[in-house]
Amino acid sequence: MASIIDGKAFAQNLREKISRRTTQLKKETDIQPGLATVLVGEDPASHVYVRNKNRQTKAVGMASFHHELDAQTSQEALLALVNDLNHDDAVHGILVQLPLPEHIDSIAVINAIDPAKDVDGFHILNVGKLAIGEPGLVSCTPLGCLMLLKDQLGDLSGKNAVIVGRSNIVGKPMAALLLQQHCTVTIAHSRTQDLAGVCRRADILVAAVGRPEMIQGDWVKPGAVVIDVGINRVEIEGKAKLVGDVDFSAAAEHAAAITPVPGGVGPMTIACLLYNTYQAACMQHGMEDRMMAL
Ligand code: NDP
Repeated sequence: MASIIDGKAFAQNLREKISRRTTQLKKETDIQPGLATVLVGEDPASHVYVRNKNRQTKAVGMASFHHELDAQTSQEALLALVNDLNHDDAVHGILVQLPLPEHIDSIAVINAIDPAKDVDGFHILNVGKLAIGEPGLVSCTPLGCLMLLKDQLGDLSGKNAVIVGRSNIVGKPMAALLLQQHCTVTIAHSRTQDLAGVCRRADILVAAVGRPEMIQGDWVKPGAVVIDVGINRVEIEGKAKLVGDVDFSAAAEHAAAITPVPGGVGPMTIACLLYNTYQAACMQHGMEDRMMAL
């Protein structure tokens, strides 16, 4: 049976490290890393995410600035707020919660964020830096997956990595990160032929599809490490439940290690947002020597 990768415990440990570094930074330089969140509209899930982000930001000793705008807010007004935050020295990270209302061009808003403060790693400049292997801010969920993989396997060099899913926020940055770690990377998607056969070649299998338990147990190579990014709400025997993109119990019979859902990748995302905010604060003040190693 596979060992279970405890993302919740790993994330808690990471937050504690960030908290210690934040306290030290404040004490020695009087700089307190600050994260600004911007929420537009009434989407209930977004409200829950942003509330959690703000709570965890404060818990590690960072400054938290929250801006809530109504659903009718114009794109100009949102861009003006982003511009203000870009010029606010107390703000080191800016997160505009997606999705934005339909009348707003999300790409224009993301690209208006100062790339040095783009702690979500979605700005085109940070995406480009990741693609060419330059240091920059990296999308939080794939960064969290990489931390779990490195903790599990150490050196990833030469491993066959298969990522199922090619989204801009998970699949593509995950592929770029694993390529940087010298993996042999395959990206699979909805047009991939013989997906089961492709998955069976993976020493590292990352599932980011958004389809409940699609990855079958016998698609997992014996001894592989499986990272399940999927978060799917399903109803089982009348009860709402969260499941991943991988058939967990069947895959656990083949894998060496696997992330559960919930409690695997999920908790890593906010922890990595705080990690990025700390790193951004160090970079903005020319204190690269204080940055945390991956
Ligand atoms: P997207 O919907 O943007 O992308 C899904 C990808 O899966 C697409 O590339 C799509 O291929 C591919 N796909 C869909 N169906 C199949 C199929 N039958 N066979 C092979 N590939 C398929 O999703 P996201 O990347 O945003 O998210 C993926 C999952 O991860 C979701 O469950 C989401 O909730 C979760 N998630 C979790 C996070 C966390 O914090 N843990 C953060 C972000 C996402 P194609 O491109 O060809 O359409």
